Amino acid sequence: MPETILFLEREPWEQEFLKGKLNGTIRFSPETIDKIPSADLHDVTMLVTFIYSPITKDVLANIPQLKFIATRSTGYDHIDVKACRERHVVVSNVPTYGENTVAEHTMALLLSLSRKLVPSIERARRGDFRLDDLRGFDLKGKTIGIIGTGHIGTNVIRYAVAFDMKVIAYDPRQNNEFSQRLGFSYVTLDELLRQANIISLHVPLLPATMHLLNDAAFVKMKRGVIILNTSRGGIIDTKALVRALKAGIVAGAGIDVLEEECEIREERELLTDAFKQQCDLETVLANHILLNRENVIVTPHNAFNSQEALERILETTIDNVKAFLAGTPQNVVSR
Ligand code: NAD
Repeated sequence: MPETILFLEREPWEQEFLKGKLNGTIRFSPETIDKIPSADLHDVTMLVTFIYSPITKDVLANIPQLKFIATRSTGYDHIDVKACRERHVVVSNVPTYGENTVAEHTMALLLSLSRKLVPSIERARRGDFRLDDLRGFDLKGKTIGIIGTGHIGTNVIRYAVAFDMKVIAYDPRQNNEFSQRLGFSYVTLDELLRQANIISLHVPLLPATMHLLNDAAFVKMKRGVIILNTSRGGIIDTKALVRALKAGIVAGAGIDVLEEECEIREERELLTDAFKQQCDLETVLANHILLNRENVIVTPHNAFNSQEALERILETTIDNVKAFLAGTPQNVVSR
């Protein structure tokens, strides 16, 4: 029987990108599953979806021919996997797509601070070529402390090693083979806070990591430390960061994520109209206390946002569909 693929929550560029890449009948809809009439679901065998479409037991009952769901997200809380299992519907996700992308943005923030790029560019644009106050510092020889050595943290470590930096890291789950290969050492969180010239955060926001960098953590740090956060805003207590900046403990911060942002499950949400309607990130950004501090640079949760990273989400999704059709499903979260 020919496959009928229903591609939900599609953005126009995604439809363009997918042209000719999948066989079978593909129906694209910008809508979420709850907006699709039942009559349009009866022949659907495969769903390609995103996080705003809750796939519940009742929804599954309306798609009797469904065999496979490919979600274009890492998380799959929006899918009732137990109900899928009972119906023998296989579910695949996109486990990673932006590990180099976010790590590259982290290095961009670091280099912007170390070489005072923002004031240098602003000054040159004004036709002012004076060098006063534009002296930066070398990364070579500096100690960078990486908190969280998962997908993104390990890429930042590779780039830091290439810059001849000394790397120390903290993660309760240590990757010892990687640390030996790259020549860096795991230390306790306390040691990291005390030794690092630069601290970069790459942990998920969990009860255990909420306000990991608070007043108690900042007082342990070296005077003049640089803080980088491309992880989640809540990992830093913003008021404590402002106090540490005023006290001269923190000499600079590169921040892509703010504590006051709405909860974000998947970075790709930030590009959707549904998210923009729910969350007024522009106001959060416009009024933020960190924004007008000279030694702080803020980017608008943009670290994930490269063409290649977004295309990788679709490429992995295409591969997931093809693997399922070939009888060898991949990136399976439920079968
Ligand atoms: P990952 O799951 O691969 O790695 C997270 C690491 O953190 C794991 O190794 C884990 O053991 C470690 N960890 C957990 N609790 C810890 C703790 N208390 N102290 C130290 N380490 C701890 O995740 P990843 O793909 O590297 O992503 C890291 C975070 O980056 C994500 O959780 C997400 O919040 C954020 N992110 C941001 C953007 C962006 O655009 N700014 C994009 C993608 C991801």
